[in-house]
Amino acid sequence: MEFSSKLIEQAVNEMAQLPGIGKRTALRLVLHMLKQPAEQVKFLSEALLKMREEIKFCKSCHNISDEEVCDICSNPRRNQSLICVVEDIRDVMAIENTRQFNGIYHVLGGKIAPIEGIGPSQLNINSLVEKVKLGGVDELIFALSSTMEGDTTVFYIYKQLKGVEVKISTIARGIAVGDELEYADEVTLGRSILQRVPYENAMKSS
Ligand SMILES: [Zn+2]
Repeated sequence: MEFSSKLIEQAVNEMAQLPGIGKRTALRLVLHMLKQPAEQVKFLSEALLKMREEIKFCKSCHNISDEEVCDICSNPRRNQSLICVVEDIRDVMAIENTRQFNGIYHVLGGKIAPIEGIGPSQLNINSLVEKVKLGGVDELIFALSSTMEGDTTVFYIYKQLKGVEVKISTIARGIAVGDELEYADEVTLGRSILQRVPYENAMKSS
């Protein structure tokens, strides 16, 4: 791609770093911004910068938060003894949208994926195991996608909790194998949480 301006070229190259944005789309966005009032572009860049610099992660569940502890964990109406374990914050958003879940979450920050070099220590697994061992947690619901990495992650945590008094279940699989949670429709996802199955049963049937 040939540019008559180094400034445009630089902006396009930066924009094209974003996932799903190729050079053509990047150019279209940059040219769009060029037509906008300078102030509008300033608002956008300031919002992005502020978000990046000031965002916090809840020290209890690792969800994104504006405070030390997120709105979900600090809500007295949520059931603190029921924890839904998810891969990332998009899953929290998807499950919240179903309005079918009244417990709290634990965001792992990914799945165990040896091929990509992601081991248990890079994920928020220890803090989950510690939390359960402290007591006060009745049930963990695993809502990870049913991929090999998802299954490996659940099994790993299950083993870490051997002998600990806690019910472990997985969401019912209305969701096809390999589907990511965020793409599941709200009704299906909501139902799969309500009709969750004990983990031991899930292992036997697979
Ligand atoms: Zn939280």
